[in-house]
Amino acid sequence: MGLLWWGRGLGAAFLRTADNLRVRVAFAAAEAAPFVKVGGLADVAGSLPQAIARLGWDVTLYLPLHGTIDQATWGITGTAPERSVPYGASHVRVAYPSVERDGVRVVFVANRRIGRDRVYGAPDDAKRYAFFCRSVAEAIAQDVPDVVHAHDWHAALLVPMIARRAPTVFTIHNLAYQGQTSAAVLAPLGLASAKLPVEKRGECNPMARAIARADIVSTVSPRYASEILTPEFGEGLDGLLRQRVADVRGIVNGIDTALFDPARDPHIAERYTADDQRGKAACKAALQRQGGLRVDPESPLLGVIGRLVEQKGIDLLTAVAPDLLEGGAQLVVLGTGDPAYEERWAKLRERYPSRLFLTLGFDAVLAQRIYAGCDLFLMPSRFEPCGLGQLISLRYGTIPVVRAVGGLADTVHDLDLHPRDGNGFSFTQYDRAAFSGALARALRALRRGGDAWSALRTRAMREDHSWGPSATAYADVYRLAQERNVRAADGERTPLSY
Ligand code: ADP
Repeated sequence: MGLLWWGRGLGAAFLRTADNLRVRVAFAAAEAAPFVKVGGLADVAGSLPQAIARLGWDVTLYLPLHGTIDQATWGITGTAPERSVPYGASHVRVAYPSVERDGVRVVFVANRRIGRDRVYGAPDDAKRYAFFCRSVAEAIAQDVPDVVHAHDWHAALLVPMIARRAPTVFTIHNLAYQGQTSAAVLAPLGLASAKLPVEKRGECNPMARAIARADIVSTVSPRYASEILTPEFGEGLDGLLRQRVADVRGIVNGIDTALFDPARDPHIAERYTADDQRGKAACKAALQRQGGLRVDPESPLLGVIGRLVEQKGIDLLTAVAPDLLEGGAQLVVLGTGDPAYEERWAKLRERYPSRLFLTLGFDAVLAQRIYAGCDLFLMPSRFEPCGLGQLISLRYGTIPVVRAVGGLADTVHDLDLHPRDGNGFSFTQYDRAAFSGALARALRALRRGGDAWSALRTRAMREDHSWGPSATAYADVYRLAQERNVRAADGERTPLSY
């Protein structure tokens, strides 16, 4: 390739060529598809490393060995290397089994303090993920990569632990979850307990610490990158982020286009492409049948997949559902979340058993059938860092109806505002009337059908939401982090370093 990279030296930059040495990046994340998935973080950590590897980087992904990861299925067998990880006054034995997947080395961090049946939600999550970070730091300190890329609060404390030794990039997938805990978590990690201005006395905010310390802070869409600098979306960290604005970047997520592909999807009733969409009708009929709905090509079929929480606009969805169902639409909802909303949706199912197909659970196969079978996909989010549901639904020719916020605003363009290149429907004001208005416009366009609707579908399916351009943007960010880190070692560190 002959590209030049800035390598890290003892304060002095040296040039490295991609010809003689592959540049190495280490990812750390709490979840990654296909091994373990709760939400969008898993999609990203399960496909971005592969895309970076395809650009010629040497990529390792560190992942907790959660109890739900099926070790036999993934070939996580045999004896794994072990290390004695210093943790406070003690040392803890940690094993690091690894597998190779699509050009990426996936290293599982195996210890009973870390591996549980649930990825999130244990009372000691903060300590558990702090120890995960400590274990990753220990592994990479033995063989320091050229860049460390940590994701969300679970991997955040890795940044201050490793920042003196390697350039760091920290990616915010959702600023609403910061992992605040007691400052007592810091000492066993060997981290200073001096508090950041945004921390309360005695508190540690892992996400804030990573934002303050990383060479580059990125988030998952350009719009969210500018939103989080404001008090409305900043979740209390907008001041800190504004101080780092020169180092904040927004890169829109891609999707795994091999996994989410209506031309090859093994789980859908009939495969189809942008050029020949006939199979989509069979997918719709199969989904209606599976859900006990009337099998009717003319009934609009609307899909919702995601966490049933306020962030995702579950209050708006709950408010409009009776009108939609009374108006002749059919709804397919798949998700888990706030128990109060789960209960309200279970009641709606009792009231509309032949019009609402509700699944309160996590089901990746059903999700693919919903993306393929529906006419419209709904995401009226209050805030949305990137959102993957709308990208996957576009790929399946299922037209998104979204609130124009965060990554939804970057990726969905309202058809009425952009008649030639629109790919969905959107609204701005977070209220029921605005959402209903966008839904009414979408349903009118769907009912009119004809060439206009098939042109819209074809355009949606032809859009490129693969990782290509975004992976290149991350590679640029890695080089920038390397440059910044060299300068920092030369004494030009940002005033925020501690
Ligand atoms: P989040 O904020 O939850 O990360 P995203 O839209 O970024 O939301 O990503 C959610 C991802 O998880 C998508 O791939 C979506 O299809 C998937 N997903 C969410 N809930 C479920 C569920 N109950 N069953 C199957 N897949 C789900």
